[in-house]
Amino acid sequence: MALLVQKFGGSSVGSLERLKAVAERVRKTRHAGDDVVVVVSAMGKTTDELTRLARSISRHPPQRELDMLLASGEQVSIALLSMALQELGVAAVSMTGQQVGIVTEAAHGRARILNIRTERVRTCLAEGAVVVVAGFQGTATSANGNLEITTLGRGGSDTSAVALAAALGAKCCEIYTDVEGVLTTDPRIVPSAQLLEHISCDEMLELASLGAAVLHPRAVEIARNYGLPLVVRSSLSDHPGTCLTSNRRQRVAGAALELGKPVDALELVRHQGLVALSHVPDRPGVAARLSEVLSGAGINVDLIVQSLHEGASNDMAFTLERRDLERAHAVVSALSGRLGGTRPFVVAAYPELAKLSLVGAGITARPGVAASMFATLGQAGISLRMIATSEVKVSCVIEDRAAGQALDLLRERFALTPSQVHLEAIPCEDEDSSPAVRGVALDCGQAQASVHGVPDWPGAAAAVCRALSDDNISLDTIVQSECTRQTPLGAARDLAFTLPRQALEQARQALAPLLQQWPGAELIPGGPIARVSAVGAGMPCTAGTAGRMFRALADAGINIAMIATSEIRISCVVAQEDGEAALRAVHHSFNLAG
Ligand code: ASP
Ligand code: MG
Repeated sequence: MALLVQKFGGSSVGSLERLKAVAERVRKTRHAGDDVVVVVSAMGKTTDELTRLARSISRHPPQRELDMLLASGEQVSIALLSMALQELGVAAVSMTGQQVGIVTEAAHGRARILNIRTERVRTCLAEGAVVVVAGFQGTATSANGNLEITTLGRGGSDTSAVALAAALGAKCCEIYTDVEGVLTTDPRIVPSAQLLEHISCDEMLELASLGAAVLHPRAVEIARNYGLPLVVRSSLSDHPGTCLTSNRRQRVAGAALELGKPVDALELVRHQGLVALSHVPDRPGVAARLSEVLSGAGINVDLIVQSLHEGASNDMAFTLERRDLERAHAVVSALSGRLGGTRPFVVAAYPELAKLSLVGAGITARPGVAASMFATLGQAGISLRMIATSEVKVSCVIEDRAAGQALDLLRERFALTPSQVHLEAIPCEDEDSSPAVRGVALDCGQAQASVHGVPDWPGAAAAVCRALSDDNISLDTIVQSECTRQTPLGAARDLAFTLPRQALEQARQALAPLLQQWPGAELIPGGPIARVSAVGAGMPCTAGTAGRMFRALADAGINIAMIATSEIRISCVVAQEDGEAALRAVHHSFNLAG
């Protein structure tokens, strides 16, 4: 006999008929012998409706009262579902977040879960009852010591369910929704998108825009951190859905269920080389050609970055195994002058580098982490040759001789234990059965911006990131230019990044005091962009994946404005109007349509 947590979303309990069908499904699970905790959302569009009511009374409803109001939606569902179960002869008891003991931060409207007291639920389960829990809500102690109702943020009942499952040590958490599971891409743009049977939590987090449409990202972070098997499936069918997996096994302890340390590993890969190209023509097909000659020569590249320089040509850089550096330099140089453009591009090679990465769920959503990594290295006089970021990882390429020192500094800064420090690249499995790319996502809510003239001294890039993170602005993709430009302060570089579009003006204000100190430095806001990302944990072990993506875009006539990769994600920034076509082309090129 195992314990299962089953969560039913608003559409699954959207009518009395659907609610009864849910009760029937729960009855079956219970009769098969498992203990069941059910978490439910408010019925149908109730939460929207309640929000509308609040707004029609007040333009800015007080957060405390809004939580009081919104939490009522879930309370209706639990009572009705519990009645429906009892009608079917199943012992059941409903509980609010407070009755369960879901303790959160005292932040109305966006509270994160600190801990869950499981005794009351366990007692009810031991008595043979199904426990029906209100999702989305918890309880917090306010500054003056009073108990308050909090909510976790829209879509938060997924997070309630997964947190409860982790705290109870459940065998699995099943999220029932109105889609069959997680698809390879957005089916509204690519109708041939296929259902994925399995996907890792890391991959799901990287597919941010795609993933968020199916599951609350915080729910995925919890499942990842605690190694909880999570299934997304339809409440309308018996299809098994998509299973999300994680190989981490953190124990739920203390009072920081959702607020655990943001960084859970540090990885160092030594013996890396870097090839930097400047003045690469800015036109479709160039990145594809370069990648193809490299994979044609049997050279597997690791990180790739590209950004626009001087508004006319691109900078490009990639890292690879040190032993392949000379050959890579030769094959790439052979293309110089043969890719069009007004002048041949320039190639430089740097040996003896190392890649240092911080790993943790939701690392980009906590902008302070990258900034603090860069600052720690900068204070020690360690320069960053390259920066690569993704949802679950921030990597820096540094001089190999500084690797030991950098490792010690970061280990201390992020309080990591020896078992959280990995000194080797994760080896590829021999016959990897899973395809290199699992899914492709399109992100349209972002803009590009660059800071020109960041002094080329240690800590300068960190200062830019810090100024933004102090203002709570999350940078997603960050690319540091390889080319230097001359400013009154000496050599300087450009830093390009993508950020939420509505944060552009805020970023300008946040950076102003810093940029004033650097003559010649300025923020150049870019237009709206689309970012297409291909994601797959098997990518580092499959040569030519990036080249294939670049080729697909080139063949569709789409120019790539910016490239940023991490181990499990390749992102290309394209003009906004090319976004959907780019998504289709990339999805097709990886045979994701089956
Ligand atoms: N009822 C809440 C909402 O609509 C929570 C949820 O459904 O997950 O956002
Ligand atoms: Mg939902």
